[in-house]
Amino acid sequence: TSFGFTTVGEGQKQALVDDVFHKVAARYDVMNDLMSAGMHRVWKDAMVSLLAPPKSGGRPWTLLDVAGGTGDISTRVVRRSGETVNAVVCDINESMLAVGRDRAEKAGLSDLITFSQGNAEELPFPDKHFDAYTIAFGIRNVPDIPKALREAHRVLKRGGRFLCLEFSEVDVPLLDKVYDAFSFNVIPPIGRMVTGDGEPYRYLVESIRKFPHQERFAEMIREAGFERVTYRNYSGGIAALHAGWKL
Ligand code: SAM
Repeated sequence: TSFGFTTVGEGQKQALVDDVFHKVAARYDVMNDLMSAGMHRVWKDAMVSLLAPPKSGGRPWTLLDVAGGTGDISTRVVRRSGETVNAVVCDINESMLAVGRDRAEKAGLSDLITFSQGNAEELPFPDKHFDAYTIAFGIRNVPDIPKALREAHRVLKRGGRFLCLEFSEVDVPLLDKVYDAFSFNVIPPIGRMVTGDGEPYRYLVESIRKFPHQERFAEMIREAGFERVTYRNYSGGIAALHAGWKL
């Protein structure tokens, strides 16, 4: 069985995505480690260091972390930048945000990270408001990606930075075969073992397959108005980091 996203409309897709993350919220962080063999930490740290957040004492700046879920990216940024940064985690799913809020509170970071419910396609923030926009493993879940990219551009100040980390297309011969086998045969069963349901993870694997190639996605970011758009592959393209500027 599969969700068969080729036949569902955009509204239905969002409903299915919401259901997936509602189901996995409590185990989300553990699952990330298991399924990426800890690699998501390396990729996320690379993303955060590219953002090069100024150390304490620098000019204050604001980050909007969209599809921020449990606040993983924001926590890393705040740990690096200390009190110079104010991060807003925006996610459509209250279950994910609730886990994040809890975690930030326990880590004593609630003053620096706020959690706000909202849709990447219609961000509840004014124009030209943030210095940086991040989205990690989130954009492929959004039904209308061009719309989300235009929203990213709208809420950034001039000179603002756009960074997107996402599963991408493996471009190393053989690794692509191994990766395919791993994702279809290993990930859903692990998902079933840990969360009691393999179906959400089957969806995740399928959504990765349907996401546009690195070059095409870079083009989409340009079409939304960003400039100096670049990308780099991590782990042979299992993940890719796209970057751009609002100039
Ligand atoms: N960025 C976090 C990380 O890297 O750990 C969470 C990534 S998680 C794989 C994807 C997140 O996207 C989920 O929390 C989900 O609720 C959120 N999401 C899905 N559709 C969304 C939308 N339209 N707007 C905002 N967030 C959305």
